Amino acid sequence: MMNLTESFTISLPCGWKQQLPDHLLLTDEEKMLFVIDLARWNVQAHGGGPFAAAVFEQKTGQLISIGVNRVVSGLCSLAHAEAVALALAQQTAQQYDLSSKRERSFELVTSGQPCIQCFGMVWWSGVRRLVVAARSTDIERLAGFDEGPIPSDWAESLSSRSPLPPVEVLMDVCREQACEVLTEYAVSGQPNYSPGRSQANWGFRIGSTGQSGRSEYFSKGLCCADGFT
Ligand SMILES: [Zn+2]
Repeated sequence: MMNLTESFTISLPCGWKQQLPDHLLLTDEEKMLFVIDLARWNVQAHGGGPFAAAVFEQKTGQLISIGVNRVVSGLCSLAHAEAVALALAQQTAQQYDLSSKRERSFELVTSGQPCIQCFGMVWWSGVRRLVVAARSTDIERLAGFDEGPIPSDWAESLSSRSPLPPVEVLMDVCREQACEVLTEYAVSGQPNYSPGRSQANWGFRIGSTGQSGRSEYFSKGLCCADGFT
């Protein structure tokens, strides 16, 4: 019988704790600039795609989780930055529904507009606010990623979806700075991992690190155990 896999783990890249702020981030701009710095760090550390996200408690501004793109390193197409941040926040808060406690509400701050997958994850996560920097058109134009068939009224549908609790959406916060990271990724020669495109864009050697096929290029970020399984 074929060996089937029982579980999987997605981890943040090594050094993530050194990226955390040493003070509370209170404004949308402060939070977003921190998230954009995470995205740039992920690109420079070869941790994955040029995207980052973070979950904050709305009332206190407390940082609950961070996420960066780990698709290639984790061999997992789910591991977008928003997905990693939401999953880690749910583990930290011990709530699969982040809207389940009236006294604690959470917001997701993301360097890029959620793709078709992450739109669904935001929908089900229980966050009550979404703050976005780069738009999907920026992501497709500057970095060449396919964002999927996102409904044109996606933001309105989040903010008005009775009987589910509404999700307030704020767009274009530090959009220009997020676009700079997208451009940096494009010129760095790192891969576009959209389905069917990775082979054409694979700028490095695969194999030699075992049967998993993990690339040497991304192998640096695989030693941490902090993640979700
Ligand atoms: Zn996504």
